[in-house]
Amino acid sequence: MLKYTFTIAFLFVLTITTAQTDQRLYDIIDAVSADRLESDIRTLANFGTRNTFSDTVSNTRGIGAARRWIKGEFDKISANCNNCLEVSYQKDFVKKGAGARIVKDAWIVNVLAVQRGTKYPNRYIIMSGDIDSRASDALNYEIDAPGANDNASGMAGTIEAARVLSKYKFESSILYVGLSGEEQGLFGGSGLAKYAKEKGWDIIGVLNNDMIGNIEGVDGVIDNRSFRIFSEPTPPTETERQRRARRFTGGEVDGISRQLARYIHKQVKTYMPEMNPMMIYRLDRFGRGGHHRPFNDLGYAGIRIMEAHENYNRQHQDIRTENGIKYGDVIEGVNFQYAKKLTAVNAINLASLAWAPPAPKGVAIGGIVQPSAKFKWEKSSDPNVIGYKIYWRDTTSPTWDHSRFVGNVSEFVLEGIVIDNFFFGLAAVGKDGHESMVVFPSQTFR
Ligand SMILES: [Zn+2]
Repeated sequence: MLKYTFTIAFLFVLTITTAQTDQRLYDIIDAVSADRLESDIRTLANFGTRNTFSDTVSNTRGIGAARRWIKGEFDKISANCNNCLEVSYQKDFVKKGAGARIVKDAWIVNVLAVQRGTKYPNRYIIMSGDIDSRASDALNYEIDAPGANDNASGMAGTIEAARVLSKYKFESSILYVGLSGEEQGLFGGSGLAKYAKEKGWDIIGVLNNDMIGNIEGVDGVIDNRSFRIFSEPTPPTETERQRRARRFTGGEVDGISRQLARYIHKQVKTYMPEMNPMMIYRLDRFGRGGHHRPFNDLGYAGIRIMEAHENYNRQHQDIRTENGIKYGDVIEGVNFQYAKKLTAVNAINLASLAWAPPAPKGVAIGGIVQPSAKFKWEKSSDPNVIGYKIYWRDTTSPTWDHSRFVGNVSEFVLEGIVIDNFFFGLAAVGKDGHESMVVFPSQTFR
């Protein structure tokens, strides 16, 4: 009997401290539907063009029809979950000449759906796709620009994630958003980021999806397993003092967006081992941009998720055949099973971050000229926090390769681990095993 009790107690401790996986995340992966993604991508592509300056009155063609349809889908999802989504438009007026690609006055209209968090209503994890599309000439708003992959795929993925996750309740809020004006100069993202700042949103991070459906590169490589996570190294909003301190403490590759990228990488490796996530240590593709950047500009964590092999014949191209080569971003260039995989990548990370407790605050590190690294942080009052996990890695490693769960304490000494030889971070762990993003210590102590 004693032995039995011991075993039960031991198993219980084992479960709460080493739980690696949550069955619900596997269920979420399975629930994402390639058929629904296909149907939504077709619908969006069939609006002919979704150029920012295209028709706003028609119900069958142009950006107006597209955004009303997207809002209608969010409304339907909400009706099916007891009104669990707050659906709205957020818009900004841009005047002709506000940017090189603003050829006339226009409303830049984003479509928002908030699944309100039960405990932290003002804390948001955000998934975004883009509503708008473009042809060869970004200013031509009348010619066909179906934008099936760029970016109906990301938009459809965002709607599908809302369908799947609306079946669950989360402690933090999830925002599913369709952004506009991307091709004209990231106007929708800029507008929403500014709006969030004014409203004082506490943003965990932005998962921006831009082109998540193409598996055939322009070089002919076909790969339905790899995808890229772009993240900038450190926030552009950091102070000169923070930048100077980094010379002595390190952290050149440990900004908040990079931690978000590592979080996603780890979740995918754990729950979707068939996939090959590639962390790219750059804001975006070389010299190019996307809608996570306006959030980064204001100091928020944000990354871009996208296919690994782009096909430039199908990007920003008028539909035509030239020298036997087919151009145009048409539905035939989208692989719906792959879009399903990348949508699932988003969904499990949204869920995990919205279930996880907030990241620890006041994380400080010490141990200079001492044999062991030491840590201090503010203990959370959230009863969901079962404890904290210290992470460390070789300074040359991209991933948090070592960790130790240290219990529900507010300081810890990592015996025999020398501060000089590793990078360190700290995460809060919730009851069901979900962890916050890793916090890179920003303070030091003796
Ligand atoms: Zn584009």
